[in-house]
Amino acid sequence: MSVTFSIEAIYTGKCRITAFGDDVCEAARQAVGRTFTDRREAYAIVREHDGAMDDCWPRDCASGLLIEGIYDVDAEGVNFANGNARVVLEFLGIDSPDLLGSMGGGDFLAACQVAMATGTPVVHARPATETVGDRGARFVDFGIDEAGIVGRVSMLADLATEAVRLGRDVTWG
Ligand SMILES: [Zn+2]
Repeated sequence: MSVTFSIEAIYTGKCRITAFGDDVCEAARQAVGRTFTDRREAYAIVREHDGAMDDCWPRDCASGLLIEGIYDVDAEGVNFANGNARVVLEFLGIDSPDLLGSMGGGDFLAACQVAMATGTPVVHARPATETVGDRGARFVDFGIDEAGIVGRVSMLADLATEAVRLGRDVTWG
């Protein structure tokens, strides 16, 4: 129930081995962080480690190692609750009813700048609401006020600035 805004990243074809934490056994310590151009090589190492996890100490690797693809852009995205993402996109004048899309970094940055210069965020603010659903389940929507909108647009403008520097799109979904 959230939307992540991020900078378009392209898969490098390489992968790395990771664990859930930093305190890992010796075998995992040697594997974690290594990069591979051949995924099968990484799988072989993970399979060997994961086949002997009773011996893992420390145990941050004892639920198994992971393989993750390496992308050329490694910037942190920003994450908003769906309702807030909807409000912010509306404030930016971006039509995205399904909360899924992409836009050139420069266009996205321009949308942020125009909205901040000429928009009236208070019009888009919405109050917190609480609804009670089936079997008494409570759903709390914390809403978003003017400062919340301005703060989020400023985060998105920073993201878009970095996207422009890299010549990439801003994507959300
Ligand atoms: Zn281990």
